[in-house]
Amino acid sequence: MENIYDHFENTIKEYFGERMKTDEELCRKIWSSLANVDWYYIGERPLLLQVSYSFRAAGGMIANIIERGDYMDWYCSGPDGIVNNEFRYAMRKVGYLADDVGMLCDGPGCIEKATCGWPDENGGPYRNTCYKHYKMHNK
Ligand SMILES: [Zn+2]
Repeated sequence: MENIYDHFENTIKEYFGERMKTDEELCRKIWSSLANVDWYYIGERPLLLQVSYSFRAAGGMIANIIERGDYMDWYCSGPDGIVNNEFRYAMRKVGYLADDVGMLCDGPGCIEKATCGWPDENGGPYRNTCYKHYKMHNK
């Protein structure tokens, strides 16, 4: 059975693959739509499944689809975490929903982006916080 990553990549290939081979701008937009964005499958398959791509993995997938080069050709080729509208809608039509909010600060009631992380010295879960909560912790 095709796994969720294969399904996701094959979906992109099917809808965008031919254009991606000659359109670098589209490849950059798709890289931005993948890097630091969690995608959830809510389509006809029975399970809720998630796909997430690192900067390298997003670049590698594009190189794979256009059948040339490697991940470095697309690594940081655009801003990360910016989902292109055409890509968002085309993927939504086949069941993929993007969560492009990203990780939020784990401070109580805080809705800032988590940009800092450190291991909890009391053995608790790894902390992910905004800069303000990081500074409060490290003063
Ligand atoms: Zn915070």
